[in-house]
Amino acid sequence: MDFDSFFKERLDALHSEGRYRIFADLERQCGRFPRAFDHGIGAEVTVWCSNDYLGMGQHPAVLAAMEAELRRTGGGAGGTRNISGTSHAHVLLERELAALHGREAALVFTSGFVANEAALSTLAGSMPGMVVLSDAMNHASMIAGIRNSRAERVIFRHNDTAHLGQLLAALPHERPKLICFESVYSMDGDIAPIAEICDVADRFGAMTYLDEVHAVGLYGDHGGGIAERDGVSHRLTVIQGTLAKAFGTMGGYLAGSSLMVDFLRGHAPGFIFTSSMPPLVAAGALAAVRHLRESQAERARHQERVAVVKRRLAAAGLPLMPSTSHIVPVMVGDAALCRTASDLLLRDHQIYVQPINYPTVPRGTERLRLTPTPLHGDADIDALVAAFEDVWQLLQIRKVSPPL
Ligand SMILES: *Cc1c(COP(=O)(O)O)cnc(C)c1O
Repeated sequence: MDFDSFFKERLDALHSEGRYRIFADLERQCGRFPRAFDHGIGAEVTVWCSNDYLGMGQHPAVLAAMEAELRRTGGGAGGTRNISGTSHAHVLLERELAALHGREAALVFTSGFVANEAALSTLAGSMPGMVVLSDAMNHASMIAGIRNSRAERVIFRHNDTAHLGQLLAALPHERPKLICFESVYSMDGDIAPIAEICDVADRFGAMTYLDEVHAVGLYGDHGGGIAERDGVSHRLTVIQGTLAKAFGTMGGYLAGSSLMVDFLRGHAPGFIFTSSMPPLVAAGALAAVRHLRESQAERARHQERVAVVKRRLAAAGLPLMPSTSHIVPVMVGDAALCRTASDLLLRDHQIYVQPINYPTVPRGTERLRLTPTPLHGDADIDALVAAFEDVWQLLQIRKVSPPL
């Protein structure tokens, strides 16, 4: 077989479908968040699509903790968690995360993706007869974990508790069941009815697995996510989160009962057979979690900035999707147009917003997904709105009537 021609053919297909991925070659400017130097255009740009939602990746407390830990313990962890790679920073971080969610224990993984894959493949794969009920919009990392578990999978309509209830009612009472869902869905910005899903789970004796990746640090009085905001953290079997988005560093984790955490610690290959995260990363994440458990300032300013951006774009007639969270998707509805709009924003306005195309979102719903942060100033928002109006005009993209 001619392998190169196979690769070429597949790449040509990506190109012709407008799905070939081009990465912006950026250099974040420490202390100047949300600015970055873009090596593609050779200029400084304002980043409007970062998942470092609060700029914690550059917070002085986080930087100080990472620098101190680097000097103290060096570059890497030196092993897997089981073989010499558990550093005191990992232990402190797991304690802090358990406390953040008001749960008995927590377990840290090298990324949120790995946490989902490892936990779901192990949880669902180790109980005979398991059925996984998975929200239709779940993230690729959960889908990978469910697939790798080889358990039966049933998909319920997005955030539809009635449908979930019907599917559960049709299953034999004695089979173990696991409901998998997210709190904030990162592409549409909508939020799951967690309490109602827990009610359904209780009715059918199912476990619940909640991905709070886009909510931890951002919601709840201590940054414990939507489950904390809604007062339901204690009702979930597993709360999963990342340290790489609002907590600004890298890594993933789970929180829940001691028994569940201990079970996964001893059985999940994605936890056991990989080197642990560098202690300096654990120390940085710990500083971010500690800071955001105490401080309300970042969360308050974040919500205020989001409200301003939504209001200003809507007033300009730009087609916002009805997000109820901090995510601000602006609908374009065509892959090539979405890519061109993004290119023009960058080249003419030094505004960086990555186009979101299929397969991340369904075809026909291609969009620009904005994530305002506490560090976007009024002038940044003025420039954003003017740039969007300019590009929408130039490309004749559909607008909507501004609200009265
Ligand atoms: C980003 C993301 C993950 C993966 O987290 P990482 O720490 O980036 O690996 C998991 N779930 C959802 C919903 C995500 O958006």
